[in-house]
Amino acid sequence: MDIFDFSQGREGYYGEYGGVFLPEILHATIEELLTCFRECKSDPSFWREYVALLQNYSGRPTPITHLANLSQQLGGAQIYVKRDDLNHTGSHKINNVIGQGLLCKRLGKRRVIAETGAGQHGFATATMAARFGFDCKIYMGAVDVARQRPNVFWMENLGAEVIAVEDGQRTLKDAINECMRDWVANMTDTHYVLGTACGPHPFPEMVSWFQSIIGIEAREQLLGLTGKLPDRVYACVGGGSNAIGIFQGFLSDDVELIGCEAGGLGAGSNLHAARLAYNDASVGVAQGFKTYFLQNDQGNMNETHSIAAGLDYIGVNPIFAYLWEQGKVRFEAATDEQVKHALRLCMRTEGLIPALESTHAFVIAIDEAPSMGRDEIILINQSGRGDKDIFTIADALDDQKWKNFICAKADQYREEQN
Ligand SMILES: *Cc1c(COP(=O)(O)O)cnc(C)c1O
Repeated sequence: MDIFDFSQGREGYYGEYGGVFLPEILHATIEELLTCFRECKSDPSFWREYVALLQNYSGRPTPITHLANLSQQLGGAQIYVKRDDLNHTGSHKINNVIGQGLLCKRLGKRRVIAETGAGQHGFATATMAARFGFDCKIYMGAVDVARQRPNVFWMENLGAEVIAVEDGQRTLKDAINECMRDWVANMTDTHYVLGTACGPHPFPEMVSWFQSIIGIEAREQLLGLTGKLPDRVYACVGGGSNAIGIFQGFLSDDVELIGCEAGGLGAGSNLHAARLAYNDASVGVAQGFKTYFLQNDQGNMNETHSIAAGLDYIGVNPIFAYLWEQGKVRFEAATDEQVKHALRLCMRTEGLIPALESTHAFVIAIDEAPSMGRDEIILINQSGRGDKDIFTIADALDDQKWKNFICAKADQYREEQN
């Protein structure tokens, strides 16, 4: 199944989703980007350079790990994990960012801007900018700046300027709006490094293309390890880039694909980001594209919530909106509470510390594995590592010993300052 074959429909549309909904002033810039992207996509030497960079700089190919202990404990399917947590900067974000960096060089631009929620995409972009010698400005909601101090620290030390956005709810969608404004004002020398498979065409296709490296590797590796394709593949879905990345390895096969969204406090709570799994979202146009958004009857965007900041977004990859309607991808949601338990189980049985985002995929896989046969195979995409979540996890697991330790350190710090 080639979702990027537009010969039957309008380019940049997946069913009725996707498209380009931008102010007139940005049309020339988007056209320029599209032309450059088409050149890169049809040039085998571009892909080779891209892969070589990721191999030398980010440790690709990332391995696949068989979770023998967990599989045995659950007593069902054999569970395998694609380890994109082992990338430089700790997640799959670097795949997309390195690709767009190469593209930016081709465009002859020397300044990059990006939005970030949890800070993982900002961190990866600042890293890429340092490596390629670009000026870099990162937009981040003021609330997120306060919540994600370690990532802000690294971005600034990598040479990026971090702008705390004070508009709206002061989170990701406000940062995206501010970043768009910068792009409009500086488009001649600036490339907007969008962080997920959302936004106006060609971003969903472009980000998916760069992330397809996960699925290409995983398919070959799993065949090598087991001689078989997986029966099911699970990946968490925020904007939907790591999931479409791994799913592309299996779209034409008889493999069940499961997107795992943020259930937050649960269905009906209104505090979640499960756009498709809870059937709470409706079709609309925002932030440059058409998809399912969590919005009210007036088209105002709802507040979203997840224990994992990287899944906390109002919209979803337009390709997924289409694949969901086609019945090609199933969507489920994991609640904050389930994520805590699954994370503890992964740590204790396998010594793995998945990011809170990735743990959503583990929740659904762990739930379904016991009812599958022992000869069946599950593949989970571990999109990132949990190091960045240390404070959230300590809080979530209500680890009193750890909390006391942190509080004592904070008191000590305050005393030293006085
Ligand atoms: C950003 C992030 C996500 C969510 O983004 P997608 O575009 O849906 O992949 C998931 N996992 C990790 C570790 C992230 O940093």
